[in-house]
Amino acid sequence: MMTGRYDPNNIFTKIISGDIPSHNVYEDEICISIMDIMPESKGHVLVIPKAGARNLIDVDPADLAELIKRVQKIAVAVKKTMHADGILLRQSSEEVAGQTVYHLHFHIIPCYAGKQNNKHVTNATMNEELAETAALIKAAI
Ligand code: 5GP
Repeated sequence: MMTGRYDPNNIFTKIISGDIPSHNVYEDEICISIMDIMPESKGHVLVIPKAGARNLIDVDPADLAELIKRVQKIAVAVKKTMHADGILLRQSSEEVAGQTVYHLHFHIIPCYAGKQNNKHVTNATMNEELAETAALIKAAI
């Protein structure tokens, strides 16, 4: 795969436009935040900028500055809602780093003392559970 070029034809632009459904926890002019369809821990959300960027390497620093404020706000709400002991924030840039969707996104993943997060998720979490968790987090933002 080529590196460094943003392709607007990706699944997250379709989620932003509403062409593909998602369980949203937050939206404003800068970003959308949705439940990850294959959570590594219950309450795993993604924060996705509306401005097109492939990943951390090419994002406009001004867009990133706005985005990270939202990441913090949503992380606080996820930690509180999910009663997590901590939050893992992850951003993968390029395939070797684990990136699979080439539109910038941050993962916010609840972590718990003495509990390992899922490493190999093979099936999507039930829609109903994602919807319930999304509603709880949304109410806390
Ligand atoms: P990456 O591997 O690029 O860091 O993260 C991509 C994430 O997007 C994965 O955790 C994956 O589960 C999630 N994902 C992929 N397709 C969809 C989708 O259609 N809807 C949602 N909500 N999440 C998705």
